[in-house]
Amino acid sequence: MKFFEHSAKRIFRKEGIKTLQGVVVYSPEEAMQASSEFGKPIVLKSQVLTGGRGKAGGIKFAENPGEAFEVAETLLNLEIKGEKVKHLLIEEKVDIQREFFISVSNDRANKRPIIMASAEGGMEIEELAKTSPEKIIRYHVNPLKEFFPYEAREIARKMGVGSDLISPIGDIIWKLYNIYDKYDCEVAEINPLALTDQGLIAADAKLEIENDALFRHKDEMERNNFKKKDFAFVKLPGDIAVIGNGAGLTLTGMDMITLYGGKPATFLDIGGGASEESIKMALDLVLNYSPVKVVFMNVLGGITRADDVAKGVIAALESSKRKVHMVIRLTGTNEEEGQRLLEEAGIPFEISMEEAAKKAVELCEELKAQEASK
Ligand code: GDP
Ligand code: MN
Repeated sequence: MKFFEHSAKRIFRKEGIKTLQGVVVYSPEEAMQASSEFGKPIVLKSQVLTGGRGKAGGIKFAENPGEAFEVAETLLNLEIKGEKVKHLLIEEKVDIQREFFISVSNDRANKRPIIMASAEGGMEIEELAKTSPEKIIRYHVNPLKEFFPYEAREIARKMGVGSDLISPIGDIIWKLYNIYDKYDCEVAEINPLALTDQGLIAADAKLEIENDALFRHKDEMERNNFKKKDFAFVKLPGDIAVIGNGAGLTLTGMDMITLYGGKPATFLDIGGGASEESIKMALDLVLNYSPVKVVFMNVLGGITRADDVAKGVIAALESSKRKVHMVIRLTGTNEEEGQRLLEEAGIPFEISMEEAAKKAVELCEELKAQEASK
């Protein structure tokens, strides 16, 4: 299974390879908002599973929010090698001084992983492979033995990069090989690995996991398959994140918070049939929004099962770096099981929406009072 650049980059970051922290957008409006939040020139990158996006016009730059809107509109109407562009990755535009190429893939003929690397990376790599194959270093790894950092540095040295770059590029090669190994990849590739004034950055990321091994990487797979269309997310000026399933219920949740004197920080409708994974994603989304002090989650289980909701909440709270204060209203299909799971995990819940909203507002007031008295 091929991974979108943004999912691959998330994995690279997790494994210690530097990339820029981008945002994924689905509309020109969101692109415009992202541009104004970055406050500097951005790059807009079509998220498709085929390569060669740059040459196909799928990578563009924008200097300001207006331009970002125009460019996003163009890209979101683009088709690259038959694949419709449905979302874009937006990152700060960096000045690239040099582009390197490093990749780890499965050499079937030799039944071994092969590392390929070149000091002349970038969009012309395929051309380079034809015209000057000697400029691409090839190194087979014995999969039964450990791959050592000194071997990776040796590859970097052979690339002919300056002595100051041998160690940092070697380190990235070593990490990329370990990603390839750990995630059961067919391919793990960085092209270009960009030399910038912020150091070496994986400016692009390619990752393909063996289909037969996907069961070992479920979390990554679900994140990669994630479709935003199930979510309606709006940021608001308050401090209580409101999450609900269904627009009506989410709006009612907002009304309740307002009624008890609170101020909503988000409107997040996770839609019907929300899975454990999408609940986790929803919580991640609001927890990344810094004004949020309390999360009010208002879920009525129909297609969505209450036990799935509970599992998603528990998983999200376990993986969250931030301390989260949340109040959940959880009823509906499989509610006993869902409530039992929450109780076991020590997460408070309510049956009544009014009670839950009131609690969320009170909790938020308490937190603010505590902060003020510090
Ligand atoms: P690909 O064509 O699908 O491989 O897409 P890439 O992500 O590799 O982007 C293609 C090219 O766009 C890169 O080789 C870079 O030259 C350029 N590019 C991508 N991101 C940036 C950026 O942040 N700054 C600059 N200056 N160029 C970028
Ligand atoms: Mn590339």
